Amino acid sequence: MTDQQDDNGRHKARMQQQKAKVDERVANAQQEKGILIVLTGNGKGKSTSGFGTVTRAVGHGLKASVVQYVKGTWPCGERDLLEKLGVEFHVMGTGFTWETQDKTTDIAAAKKAWEFTKQCLQDPSIDLLLLDEITYMLSYKYLDVDEVVAALSARPTQQNVVITGRACHRSVIEIADTVSEVRPIKHAFDDGIKAQKGIDW
Ligand code: ATP
Ligand code: MG
Repeated sequence: MTDQQDDNGRHKARMQQQKAKVDERVANAQQEKGILIVLTGNGKGKSTSGFGTVTRAVGHGLKASVVQYVKGTWPCGERDLLEKLGVEFHVMGTGFTWETQDKTTDIAAAKKAWEFTKQCLQDPSIDLLLLDEITYMLSYKYLDVDEVVAALSARPTQQNVVITGRACHRSVIEIADTVSEVRPIKHAFDDGIKAQKGIDW
């Protein structure tokens, strides 16, 4: 037997072993239920991943809704596209500027967005709900974490929820099914490169 044949044989055996393990794990994963995904951490890619999941769901004909817990009325490429495809958006938008920070207005806007979120969390026709940047509402204590956890836990069994934002509260992480932390290794902004349309928003 040549060295190459020997190597091929070992590779084949390893692959067969790996396939058996994967097959077993696939066979064991039989539960069908909506999941709670948390995308957190300080690196870039959380909201784009959340919107990517919405696009994936819509592509399969599922119904998705988005609540954006962002203060400004920033432009957002995903919103412009997904609204055309029937995805309902609720944008918190307080008309915020750095010059006129008003905590009372922010809290009122957060609570209004939360009222809409609660309705979505009781609506079994929504297959996927994206709560973009909601983590900050909990960090600032604009929303009550116990109330948020209770509403998430009581949602329809088949409904999927994606939460994005830095420093996600541990109580939300505890009830989540899938949690990913995006870690920054480099970011162009730190090199003085401007945020770009279509890349950053
Ligand atoms: P994206 O929307 O690009 O997926 P994100 O949701 O992970 O980013 P956010 O914390 O919501 O990140 O920040 C939104 C904006 O800030 C984006 O324009 C993004 O490029 C930028 N950003 C994200 N992470 C960093 C970072 N580590 N340093 C500088 N800017 C960042
Ligand atoms: Mg984001």
